[in-house]
This record gives sequence, C-alpha cells and structure tokens, in this order.
Amino acid sequence: MTAEPTSPQQPIRILFVGGHGRSGSTLVSRALGAAGKASCVGELRYLWKQGVAKNQLCGCNRRFARCAFWQDVGDAAFGGWRNVDAIEMAGLHQSVMRIRHLAHHLLPGSTGAFGRRVRLYAETMAKVYRGIAEVSGSPMIVDSSKFPTSALLLRRMPGIDLRIVQLVRGPHGVVHSWSRTVQRADKGGRLMATHSPTRAAAEWLVFNAAIESFRLTRTPWTLLRYEDFVARPHSELSRVLEFAGSPSPDTGFLGDGTIDLPVDHSVAGNPMRIRTGVVPLRADEEWRTAMRRARRRMVTVFTAPGMLRYGYPLR
Ligand SMILES: [Zn+2]
Repeated sequence: MTAEPTSPQQPIRILFVGGHGRSGSTLVSRALGAAGKASCVGELRYLWKQGVAKNQLCGCNRRFARCAFWQDVGDAAFGGWRNVDAIEMAGLHQSVMRIRHLAHHLLPGSTGAFGRRVRLYAETMAKVYRGIAEVSGSPMIVDSSKFPTSALLLRRMPGIDLRIVQLVRGPHGVVHSWSRTVQRADKGGRLMATHSPTRAAAEWLVFNAAIESFRLTRTPWTLLRYEDFVARPHSELSRVLEFAGSPSPDTGFLGDGTIDLPVDHSVAGNPMRIRTGVVPLRADEEWRTAMRRARRRMVTVFTAPGMLRYGYPLR
C-alpha cells in the first residue's frame, strides 16, 4: 500500500469518538470514516495487546500480521513491529490508561514514575498515528478508543489536530447490551465482556461526564446521539464531518434504512467491525421488551442527570 507521505510539519487530524462502550461507536466510526474518506482504525488503544501481541483479526478479516496496512504502518513507525516490545507496550497501557487513571492524567505536570510512563506511551503512540497518516494518505484518522484517558493522551502529543465527537446512546440500551451474552465472530466465538447493570449504569455516567468535560478545554468537541445518527444518518454525518474539518461528505453508501460498509482496518472494537456490505441501520431497542421493569427504573434513577442532560425522556 502506498500513499503520498504526510509532511512532518502538517498536523495529523484525528476525529476521536469518545463515550461509553456499547454505544454504537464501531458503526458510527466506520460511517464517519467512509463518508469523510478518513482512515477508520477502530479502538487504537488495544493495538498492542490485540493487534501486535495477540495477532487477532483486523477489520479486513486478516490476522494483524497478515494485514498489509498494519505491516506498512509498523514499518513506517518503527522499521517493523519487531523493533518494539508489544507485551511491554500492552503492560504500559494497562498501567496508565485505564479509567481509574483518569485523575492522574489531570494533575498538572504528572511527575514521577506515572508521568514517565505516560510520556513514553505517548511518544510511542505518536509514531503510530504518524505511521497511519503516512500509509493511509487519508486527510483524517477516526479513532474510536472512547476512553477519556485516550483523548487526554492525544492532547499531550505534538502535531495532532484533535477533534472530539462524544457519542451518547440512551443508558437503558447500553446497560442491556452490557448484560447480554454475545459470541464474538471476530475472536472465534469467545464471549463479549459483560457488566452488572449497576456497574454499566455508573460507568455510563462517568465516561460521558469525563468526555463532556473536554467542552471546558480548547479541544473542539461536539455531541452525537446514536439515536439521531440512526434516524438522520446523512444530516448527522454531514454535521459531524463539517465539525471535523471534512465538509461535503460522500454518503452514497447510505440506503433506505441500510448502510453499505466498506472494508476497514480497525484493529479492535465491536465484532461488527469485520462485517462488510449492506447491513440494516437501526436503533437496537430490545431493552424495551427484554429488560425487567425494576431494572429499567433502577437505570433511570441512577442515570437521570445524564438522561436529562442529553435529552432522553425519563418516562
Ligand atoms: Zn487490515
């Protein structure tokens, strides 16, 4: 794969999809990538563990080590992935990038061992982003890492033009999705992680509040509700891509209630990242019939401040 090299001075534009898991970020990111002619790399925070170390499937349905795109990125960034210790990088990620580390990232200067680890991780990831920009030749990278710690890491990197789109989905659908047992087509039928309803509801609030706090910074931020994307995909994609500096999107892949997905090289994310072709575009409302009344009420009471904030009716 060849492309025009990006000049070292040119900032790399990154559209970061932030928010809570099970909010539809894989589908939305792929749609943003396709419409904006951007490179959709999926949840890049899992690159080291799932891609380089475990050689799992890329979105293109090839093993990471057999995907020409990612091999070219490794060559561009490091002269080959073999020149970086992937296990060490995955461990470094685990030690500084989890949601429990959020407060540490906000401390000014972050000195000491934590600060040194964050700087090393940021320097290494900056090379990865530059490699992606070089190899793809795309005007923008869509990163659906979602975690606020990943967005804060991007803010540390020089030469990055970061834009954040906060993706919110109503909490009942999110909590229900976290409780379902789903086999992963992209990982040989292994089960997707599940969370208890209280944990999923609490994290919905925390992740969304943390991503929304970027409104208080100079980083451009916009909101996208998953339900609005499903109802009005053309206008919502156009709005977000204009915000991201890519006006006049090509939304020819949108049909009447469908979306025609191209091949992406997303390194991690929802199992639907390996699906291509025409798929239905609909809000998953299974929770309305499958969720018990008491649990629905618990979710509403727990997440009411966020529901009101993002325009979800409490009844
Ligand atoms: Zn690939």
